[in-house]
Amino acid sequence: MARHTGPVCRLCRREGQKLFLKGERCHGPKCAMERKNYPPGEHGNSRRGRRRPSDYALQLREKQKLRAIYGLLERPFRRCVERALKSKGVTGFMLLSLLERRLDSVLRRAGFATSQNQARQLVRHRHVSVNGHVCDVPSRLVREGDEVEIRENSKDSMHLNAAIARGYQVPGWLNVDTGTKVIVVARMPEPEDIQVDVDEQQVVEFYSR
Ligand code: SF4
Repeated sequence: MARHTGPVCRLCRREGQKLFLKGERCHGPKCAMERKNYPPGEHGNSRRGRRRPSDYALQLREKQKLRAIYGLLERPFRRCVERALKSKGVTGFMLLSLLERRLDSVLRRAGFATSQNQARQLVRHRHVSVNGHVCDVPSRLVREGDEVEIRENSKDSMHLNAAIARGYQVPGWLNVDTGTKVIVVARMPEPEDIQVDVDEQQVVEFYSR
C-alpha cells in the first residue's frame, strides 16, 4: 500500500509537462511548471535540450510519467503491466484500462477528488463503499454494473463538495449522480474514454526488452 511521498512537482518538472498531481494548485499560478519549467536539480536549467535522448530514455520517461499519474510505485505498476501482457487485446490499452478501473482512479474521473492522492485518501480513510460494502483498497478494480458510493457520514465533506463544485468532464463509461454521490460503472472503458497524455506503447516496449 505504499505510495510516493516525496515532492510531486519535481516529477512534472522532470517530465517537462504538467501531470496534474496536486489538484487545485495545478491550475493556478503557483504551479511549479509555470514558475520553473526546467528539470529539477542544481544543473537542471543548464542541461536543458543538450543531448538527444536514446530510445531507452524515451521509453523510461513514458513509463515514469504513467506511474506518476496513477501514483504507483514500481512493483505494483509492474504487476499491472504483467497482467496487461497476459490479457487478450492490445497490451497498451489493456494497461490503461486496468489503471483507469482502479477504485481511486474512478473517484477521480467522476470528479469526487481533484487529484489521484486525494482520491486514494478517500478510499484509505474508508469514505467509500462498493456495492454496499466498505472498501479501503485503492487498487480494487471495478467491473460493469458496480456501484461506488460515498458513505452517508462522509457525503458532506468539504473537500468532496469542493471537488464536485469544480466540475469535471466525466468519461462515458461512468454514470455519476453528484446529488447522491453515487457512481455506476455503465460499461468497461473504451480507448476514446481514456485521455492520458502518455505513449503507452513505449511503456509496453520498456517492459518487453
Ligand atoms: Fe505538476 Fe500540479 Fe505541481 Fe504543477 S502544481 S508542477 S501540474 S503537480
